[in-house]
Amino acid sequence: MSFDVPPFAPTGAVSPRVPISFELYPPRTPAPVEALHETIQKLASVSPRFISVTYGAGGSVGGRSLDVLRYIREQTAVEPLAHLTCVGSTYAGASRLIREFLDAGILSFLALRGDPPLGESEPFLGDLESSAQLVQLIDRAQAERAPYQERPIPGVPGAVQVTPRRKVNIAVAAYPNGHPRSTYRNQDIDALLAKQAAGATLAITQLFFHPDDYFAFVERARRAGVTIPILPGIMPITSPARLRRVLELSGEELPAELSIALEVEPTTEGRTEIGVAQAAALVRELVDGGAPGVHLYAFNQHRTVLDVLEEAGVLDAAPPASRHVDRRPAVPTGRR
Ligand code: FAD
Repeated sequence: MSFDVPPFAPTGAVSPRVPISFELYPPRTPAPVEALHETIQKLASVSPRFISVTYGAGGSVGGRSLDVLRYIREQTAVEPLAHLTCVGSTYAGASRLIREFLDAGILSFLALRGDPPLGESEPFLGDLESSAQLVQLIDRAQAERAPYQERPIPGVPGAVQVTPRRKVNIAVAAYPNGHPRSTYRNQDIDALLAKQAAGATLAITQLFFHPDDYFAFVERARRAGVTIPILPGIMPITSPARLRRVLELSGEELPAELSIALEVEPTTEGRTEIGVAQAAALVRELVDGGAPGVHLYAFNQHRTVLDVLEEAGVLDAAPPASRHVDRRPAVPTGRR
């Protein structure tokens, strides 16, 4: 994966066979955050490349999103990745927000158009109309910052160490089975090409249920000229209610077999096992087929996604001492 973040070995107790990453969302109320912090620590212990934090449409929970990102940055060795949306944003407003995230030390982003607020069918877009424009804006906000940063040298009063700033990483969304609002077959590939041209260095996919959906999309994207890594997004579905909700949001077709299995299973534990087994099989096939890593939608719970990775054979529980640990700092490689 060409993402300039620290290698995945040193951050936790295990060393995954392929790069892994997770998505969380900020708490919807200012409720106690201990449970979320515990989840973050548990996820950090398996050495993910990054943990991403969603951003509510219209910026409704933007502040809390930054709180979660700050916690990841300050309390773990994992790269925090901030989702940012353009829905309802002006250039000036979005630039301010990006600078706030950069000032907080957040250097990895997922640039998104965003979805309309609940109950509205079309998002109100400010000046920004697409995620490709947001990618450019993040790039520009970073370019406007001083290229070097100063760090005090401990024990030497008044002395500073000058180091080059790390470049930002900008990921974007991709839709193996098409965005629900796409109007022609290749629109999502065209959108991905535009995002790549704007400076994106990684794509993360919407959930899907069949490995062939992903591999066929990657092949079409490569043929069209997309060269950035396309990271598959996997969501363990552990209840009929969650399945209904994600189909509504993503526009994916109903996976009949999974749907029936979840409907007929009477216990919560049994449904969780079904969801874990289905997601683990998907992860296995994706990794065997050459996917550059796996990104798991964690729903703010660690157990299910860790079980998926365990069952898929992705987590290698070798003791840290026996592993090669690459401690190079996360410096830019100049590859953009
Ligand atoms: P763009 O790159 O601007 O567009 C991509 C494609 O969307 C276009 O090719 C087109 O097919 C289609 N499209 C979008 N709108 C229209 C339209 N009005 N008419 C026709 N076609 C259209 N949303 C959030 O609010 N917060 C999040 O944190 C968040 N995280 C996400 C994470 C991932 C990995 C993914 C895959 C999605 C996420 N989303 C999130 C949802 C995303 O904002 C929506 O899917 C949004 O509708 C499109 O965003 P985009 O950045 O892909 O849009």
